[in-house]
Amino acid sequence: MVETVIRVLAEYRKHRKDWDALCRRCGLCCYERSVSRVGEVAVDLLSPCEYLDENSRLCMVYENRFRECRDCQKVNLFRALFHRYLPPGCAYARTFRVWKQNRPR
Ligand code: SF4
Ligand code: SF4
Repeated sequence: MVETVIRVLAEYRKHRKDWDALCRRCGLCCYERSVSRVGEVAVDLLSPCEYLDENSRLCMVYENRFRECRDCQKVNLFRALFHRYLPPGCAYARTFRVWKQNRPR
């Protein structure tokens, strides 16, 4: 447990100054998602956010996204660690959920 916290904090120190650079711009967090009973996240690729450019997978209102879209949420450290709806391939989840890193994906 203590080792896990130390690893998470080390990753946070490494990335906090350039937090947005960690995103790999897959856009998967901009689609509707559901979580199964066993915690698996399914991304509905037929239901993108209205502000997602599906060709580039980039947000068309990025600078104002939290004002324009009431469902849009910043991926902060807490969400990176615990948000149930974060796609498993998300760079934030993969970086900070260190307890999953040695498990097969
Ligand atoms: S508003 Fe938010 S959820 Fe919608 S495309 Fe932009 S970043 Fe994604
Ligand atoms: S799922 Fe994660 S890596 Fe992909 S766009 Fe969203 S925040 Fe970035």
